[in-house]
Amino acid sequence: MRLILLGPPGAGKGTQASGIVEKFHVPHISTGDIFRKNIKEGTELGNKAKEYMDQGLLVPDELVVAIVEDRLQQDDCKNGFLLDGFPRTVKQAEELDKVLVKMNVSLNKVINVDVDKSVLVERAVGRRVCKTCGATFHVKFNPPKEDGVCDKCGKELHQRADDTEETVSKRIQVYLNETQPLINYYKDQEVLATINGQQEINKVFEDIVAALGEK
Ligand code: ADP
Ligand code: ADP
Ligand code: ZN
Repeated sequence: MRLILLGPPGAGKGTQASGIVEKFHVPHISTGDIFRKNIKEGTELGNKAKEYMDQGLLVPDELVVAIVEDRLQQDDCKNGFLLDGFPRTVKQAEELDKVLVKMNVSLNKVINVDVDKSVLVERAVGRRVCKTCGATFHVKFNPPKEDGVCDKCGKELHQRADDTEETVSKRIQVYLNETQPLINYYKDQEVLATINGQQEINKVFEDIVAALGEK
């Protein structure tokens, strides 16, 4: 299964990704996670990406495309993959198409998680993430059993540096300008499935599974 999760910041892509990779046994490739890991490790890539991420801007296409191209060549992507947060520009989508042609494979579905812009800031600002296992919570909509502690691994939860109201608003604007055009791009390729992301987390997942024809 070769999938893309598309949607604005805070739509629930990462949350749904964890269920999808478990069910379909494909690697979860989140470009945001790759950048955050590099920032944590202080690599050159991390330092470059941080400048953009802190401002809510997109990391330049060349940097992102090279990373994804490299990642998709790895063995664990042979039977499929889930791209989360990539592509985010038409240029990235065109470059991905070239990579897929080279690999002689095609996309099964692009899942567009549709959420009204009005709820995105609250979702992102209340997001809490576990840096150890990657689990995502929300202080109000999906709270951990114990405040500030990861349900899955017991480690401390954190707020992302870019999950402030100001930066999230900027990211939403960037989404509208740069990423939203991908909805039509993939509609034209006849691989788009739009899912209502403003339902219970489990219901969103059910709808995704149904859209993949796996009910
Ligand atoms: P994205 O990866 O698209 O930025 P996340 O999956 O990290 O989004 O979700 C953003 C925040 O919203 C998280 O705190 C998450 O717990 C919460 N969330 C995810 N899905 C839902 C939902 N269906 N209803 C309410 N809150 C949700
Ligand atoms: P969210 O889903 O909440 O927007 P991500 O973790 O996907 O968060 O992305 C965080 C940041 O990482 C983005 O605001 C951007 O700066 C950078 N980033 C992630 N993926 C891409 C991409 N495909 N192209 C450019 N920048 C990216
Ligand atoms: Zn954890």
